[in-house]
Amino acid sequence: MATALHSPSTNRLTPNKGYVGRFAPSPSGHLHFGSLVTALGSFLQAKSQNGQWLLRIEDIDPPREVAGATDSILNCLEAHHLFWDGEVIYQSDRSELYNQKIQYLASQGLTYHCRCTRKQLAIVPQNQLCDCADQNLSIANSAIRFKHHDVQKGFNDNLLGRVNFNTQHIPAQFAIKRKDQLFAYQLAVVVDDIQQGITEVARGADLIDATLFQLALYQAFDTPAPQFLHFPVVVTAPGKKLSKQNHAVPVNNLEARENLINAIEFLGLSPSIQLKKGSVADILEWAIQVWNVNAVAAKTECIDNRIGQSDSI
Ligand SMILES: [Zn+2]
Repeated sequence: MATALHSPSTNRLTPNKGYVGRFAPSPSGHLHFGSLVTALGSFLQAKSQNGQWLLRIEDIDPPREVAGATDSILNCLEAHHLFWDGEVIYQSDRSELYNQKIQYLASQGLTYHCRCTRKQLAIVPQNQLCDCADQNLSIANSAIRFKHHDVQKGFNDNLLGRVNFNTQHIPAQFAIKRKDQLFAYQLAVVVDDIQQGITEVARGADLIDATLFQLALYQAFDTPAPQFLHFPVVVTAPGKKLSKQNHAVPVNNLEARENLINAIEFLGLSPSIQLKKGSVADILEWAIQVWNVNAVAAKTECIDNRIGQSDSI
């Protein structure tokens, strides 16, 4: 949906003592090398600016959760010395907040109840709401949809530069609470990022398209959007990303030093041979000192050049 134009952005790496970043994994599997890269990149971006790095577990979709994944994610971050600031936030604890925010959107006339099936929605023209919008349906067996009327054309990414959306393929509505009463990802992310005071969302480029929907919600909440920075996704071949869904091998915590070096190199830094023999703490301290987001490839995906050399991906 989105295209990134690799023009220099004017708002790159503005020193900001009030920087608040976050890492927000879902417990749908263990961390793999690609998620470690994102965690490390967002950590370095925060710590190099004396900022805070918060951890949020996005556990609002129980059917997709894998038993033990939350503990595994926390253990993995700790094994790599990616220590977060403050308490871990769990989205599963925050239903009341999400419901309040949905009520606010409803009070602004920005939502409606919808009972369409996925099939029925698929035949609604992109720029129109489904018929439910005129029917004043009760909440029973309904999804809550946000009227996406004020579509933004793009945004300035702190790595990729200007990113323009393909506005021909943007639906006129999207779900903020599903028929099964689970909160939608877009709603929960924006509510939490606002509530946690996030100043820059640094995450994988697989979430670029989500930015469009999230910007619409910031506007609806009358809140300035944070900065955005999308790191390249780790792929094994063009278009083939490492993911929990395609059973990428979990990060081996016993190889934390090697994993960090590999992730640091993927992010464009060049550790010395001597540093490669150092401790995890030494490696991270060095990376914080020399971190420069402009060294990261300004691309939405990069092939992992360790393929064939290591079994740790
Ligand atoms: Zn409908």
